[in-house]
Amino acid sequence: MTRLLLIGPPGAGKGTQAVLLAAHFGIPAISTGDIFRSNVKNETPLGVEAKGYMDRGEYVPSTLTNALIRDRLSQPDAKRGFLLDGYPRTADQVAELDKILVESSARLDVVVQLRADNKELVRRLAHRAEVEGRGDDTPDVIARRLDVYDEQTAPLIDIYVSRGLVAMIDGLGEIELVTKRIIEALNARGLELDA
Ligand code: ADP
Repeated sequence: MTRLLLIGPPGAGKGTQAVLLAAHFGIPAISTGDIFRSNVKNETPLGVEAKGYMDRGEYVPSTLTNALIRDRLSQPDAKRGFLLDGYPRTADQVAELDKILVESSARLDVVVQLRADNKELVRRLAHRAEVEGRGDDTPDVIARRLDVYDEQTAPLIDIYVSRGLVAMIDGLGEIELVTKRIIEALNARGLELDA
């Protein structure tokens, strides 16, 4: 039973590492960004509502995001543990996640903070814009997303630091190297496979 959060700015490599770590630990990687994007693509009511915020680089209102996560964490596959990528991102969302966990008598194991400097983040996001053509990877929306992260999400890390849960990881370097750093930090905190 492994419950992890992955926190870091846009472009830090959360999505990439989330998939690799989830496979390693045999738990689902749950990305609010991916869930929103798939709803936008399928033009569901949630997608229609979320699209405007995403296109501007703003956060989708927490009422929608919290309901989405509450539903997703109630699915059977999440009972064995989970890795959340991109949630919580606001103080509201931290409170909601705390509530969900208390209700299911569960607790977080580790919060992985993935770090990279702004110059590298902008470089990676500009590159991703070319390769994937994501609508929110344009220069002014990227700048807005980085600001929103600094304003609303970065301060949340202190909450988890005060709970003794944060493993700070350098996100620079090869993908496999970063994965190795994270797995080593998790092992050092007692999270082993087949334990
Ligand atoms: P990135 O971390 O690279 O900005 P994501 O794919 O995680 O990208 O998220 C893309 C967009 O989806 C965000 O800019 C935001 O509009 C929305 N989103 C994702 N997660 C959340 C969340 N927890 N709360 C509010 N909005 C979110």
